[in-house]
Amino acid sequence: MIRQAVILAGGLGSRLKGRTAAMPKGFLEIGGRAIVEWSVQKLIAAGIEDIIIGTGHCSEWYDRLAEKYHVVRTVRNGRYADTGSMGTLEVCAPLVDGDFLVLESDLIYDAVGLGVLLNEQHRNVLLASGATDSGDEVYVEADEGGILRNLSKVRGDVGTVAGELVGITRLEKRTLDAMCAYAAEHHADLPKMEYEHAMRFVSAGGAHPIYVRTVEYYAWREIDCEEHLAMAQERVYPRIVENESLLSVRREVLLNPGPASTSDSVKYAQVQADICPRELEFGSLMEWCARELTAFVAPPEEYAAVMFGCSGTGVDEAMVCSVVPDSGRLLVIDNGSYGSRLAKIAAVHRLPFDVFTSSTYEPIDLAELEKAFASKKYTHLACVHHETTTGLLNPIGEICRRAKEHGIVTIVDAVSSYCGIPMNLAELGIDFMASTSNKNIQGMAGIGFVICRRTELEKTKDVPVRNFYLNLYEQHSYFEKTKQTRFTPPVQTFYALRQAIIETKAETVERRAERYTECWKILVEAVKSMGLKMLVKEENQSHLITAILEPENEAYSFESLHDYAKEWAFTIYPGKLGNINTFRIANIGNILPEEMRRFTEKLREYMHSIGQC
Ligand SMILES: *Cc1c(COP(=O)(O)O)cnc(C)c1O
Repeated sequence: MIRQAVILAGGLGSRLKGRTAAMPKGFLEIGGRAIVEWSVQKLIAAGIEDIIIGTGHCSEWYDRLAEKYHVVRTVRNGRYADTGSMGTLEVCAPLVDGDFLVLESDLIYDAVGLGVLLNEQHRNVLLASGATDSGDEVYVEADEGGILRNLSKVRGDVGTVAGELVGITRLEKRTLDAMCAYAAEHHADLPKMEYEHAMRFVSAGGAHPIYVRTVEYYAWREIDCEEHLAMAQERVYPRIVENESLLSVRREVLLNPGPASTSDSVKYAQVQADICPRELEFGSLMEWCARELTAFVAPPEEYAAVMFGCSGTGVDEAMVCSVVPDSGRLLVIDNGSYGSRLAKIAAVHRLPFDVFTSSTYEPIDLAELEKAFASKKYTHLACVHHETTTGLLNPIGEICRRAKEHGIVTIVDAVSSYCGIPMNLAELGIDFMASTSNKNIQGMAGIGFVICRRTELEKTKDVPVRNFYLNLYEQHSYFEKTKQTRFTPPVQTFYALRQAIIETKAETVERRAERYTECWKILVEAVKSMGLKMLVKEENQSHLITAILEPENEAYSFESLHDYAKEWAFTIYPGKLGNINTFRIANIGNILPEEMRRFTEKLREYMHSIGQC
């Protein structure tokens, strides 16, 4: 698995004169966006989790880019004016810790090129294209085995031309080390060495063969001068856009309360070479996922994620049945379907428990709850953070901190709030927290996980095993020892989860919550303007899901509204609460405010058609 990319962006771009006097070349715009930003987005979509940009000229531009994309970091080549691209690569080299991609910053390219390199059996691979007739070609010569022998701008210098150098290469760390060693020997005589020169040397020398992979009709352009910029804008960029659009998946916007809509890159991340999940490589991937899932809400030293192949209810069950000892007593807060589900799980496992029942649409009476805590009857508390049934958000910090003051262990179903609302488990007083891969983390359905305070998890060692598969302690201790799950994990879903985590890190949970809130505001404003009522008062809502009371109108039926929305690629979901009928609109997943705006237009059209507004 390739995790890192280095973008070489130290250069002055002097052939573009005025345009790049006070701006690096990477910030030339095509299609309304800086070319380096296109590149960063394509790298993230291809599963690169750590993008290192080697900067120099006007480095602050890249520092600002790193603030926007949290998976980007910059390192400055202080001597950029006196070195070539190899000097910048040498500055980046200490941050590289495995196979990686190296790219030039002044490129536009079809993302398929990244896929080709990442999918190669060879570990050192240089991407080449057929003839571009750009007038600035770097010809690549390869031997019969396809190994890089020579590179030159002069056609006569190379023998058989395997293709033209694109400027995107996959390398092993030790190849990079050999290139750096070569460069260090030549600092005096070749101070402005380009990185291609070092690649040619280590490959042609035979110690680090670099395979040349030619894609004949590859769409790309390096931008070194005005003619290149015009060529990129007029010919190459439209081809890239068309090629990439051919691979985009039909858009369906899920406004149901999970599974949530996902990006195409998450969908495509599932397409991987077959792998046995007991291989170390897959173990490392799962370990990385566990650590990163935890890091969104707690320090991984204090909390650990325990993962299962199951739905959200599976991990709710794992939590409830693994944590409460026979000698303990559990209090379950029930103010919606998911709270009552926790109570049903406790009943199935014959745990000693009581239910604290509260309104499904009004805030919990904390004083009453405090009385229950103070009764000294309870060792454990189970509750739901966000009641997905209604969109009611429970004050989880208020509840759990109070419970902790009474020495009560806290178990929280945060399935539909995790990564949609910023959380710090330790500050909130949460010991065990469950969620899944298919809600706000924006991955595929199939993985449930419980993020557990390590000290509390350790204490569950002696709790009787009540469920063979869904046992937190067994799953955790086996994973810590072996980097494997006890039983077959959903392999492809893990690849999608990895991609979803990278995209969450790039967006950040804070900005994701803001995007969700923006969508929610659009919805609420529209709903109110149509004279519809919401079940829960705005101040008690989560901003993630909204339960809307069905209009008292003969012509209305949920089915007809559902079918109308579905025609426009929006999926909605009913919600029944006793005798109150609602329909629910979730705004979780990778949805954009403009999509929510389009949905509200369709909702208005429907309501208008039945004479509601
Ligand atoms: C979605 C959800 C679950 C889990 O549902 P599954 O269908 O089992 O994945 C549990 N709790 C809450 C609050 C949820 O929103």
